[in-house]
Amino acid sequence: MTRKTLGYVKLIWHCPNCGSRNPGPQKICSNCGTPQPDNVKFEQLPQAELITDAAEIAQAKAGPDVHCYYCGSRNPATAKVCSQCGADLTQATARESGQILGTLQSGPAQPIECPACGTPNDPNAAKCIQCGAALTEPQPAAPLPVAAPAPAQKGQFPLFAIIIGVAMLALIGGCIFFLVLSTRTTDLTGQVESVAWTRRVLVQELVPISGQDWRDQLPPGAVVGSCSERQRGSERQDTGQTREVCGTPYTVDTGSGFGEVRQDCETEPIYEESPVYADYCSFTATVWQTVPGPTLTGTDLNAAWPQANLLGPNQREAGREESYEVVFKTDGKAYTYSTTDFNEFQQFQIGSRWTLKVNSFDVVTSVEPPQ
Ligand SMILES: [Zn+2]
Ligand SMILES: [Zn+2]
Ligand SMILES: [Zn+2]
Repeated sequence: MTRKTLGYVKLIWHCPNCGSRNPGPQKICSNCGTPQPDNVKFEQLPQAELITDAAEIAQAKAGPDVHCYYCGSRNPATAKVCSQCGADLTQATARESGQILGTLQSGPAQPIECPACGTPNDPNAAKCIQCGAALTEPQPAAPLPVAAPAPAQKGQFPLFAIIIGVAMLALIGGCIFFLVLSTRTTDLTGQVESVAWTRRVLVQELVPISGQDWRDQLPPGAVVGSCSERQRGSERQDTGQTREVCGTPYTVDTGSGFGEVRQDCETEPIYEESPVYADYCSFTATVWQTVPGPTLTGTDLNAAWPQANLLGPNQREAGREESYEVVFKTDGKAYTYSTTDFNEFQQFQIGSRWTLKVNSFDVVTSVEPPQ
């Protein structure tokens, strides 16, 4: 991060005795003659402009003014002896400096109304142009120290976090509720009423296909036809160049009655989207495709596999599937239990009695021999 000084602005202070607004560099209230005490802080003008006067800029850069240890008078940083009492200023206390006074008030501000005659005055004026009364406005907006470069909106975070938190809790609660309902079971006694089985051989067949695709996506063994270059996507590239991104200018108290206008900037790399090209090709190929294979079903416990009946080397077996169902009859209600375990299936003789574990969704989760 680089910190830049954009220039300097005149500040103001308010007289603690009469409330008048005084220009920052002025050390004594122009209305009542009270010297500015060291605890009366500088504030921004409602409508700040960078100063151009060389002498004022030099004053702004000289460092914080000092307060005489003997009489308390404010003196410039460069002074050797107090202008009020002549005391040596090597022991003097420097005014506080470096505080951020807020973002630079560079926009046009509201006119300030004279408390004595009601005349609207220039927002930066110290005295009424009509009657000469001191302008003692209640200070509008800003002099609170604002977090300078990018004020973080901390206030919004907790509400956002609470909403997310509540949503997460609801989700976790829902999952636990579902888990409890599906694992909590009731024991029922059931009698096997009927059984059924299905067995299937999966068959794949070599079939010719043709189409178009990216060269690196073609099926293995494909015969490539014509290809052309096409844009496939884009890529973010570092151009090697940079740009500067700067925050809002803000004013810092220099302790001299002038504010330093600063701006914090970051250097960012500049990226560029550039298209990525690749070969798009037409092709022909032969690929394995799954075709409906032979299926056998039955309603007894003697399940058997169907014949695959492969037609030469262009067909192959690609696996087997089996599923079994048992219908149990309980007190007035029938439950269907499904399994893929043939050994388990074979135990369910028609008319035999078993203990069924049924969960809250009325699903049989397991079947055990009767106790
Ligand atoms: Zn005063
Ligand atoms: Zn003094
Ligand atoms: Zn007036």
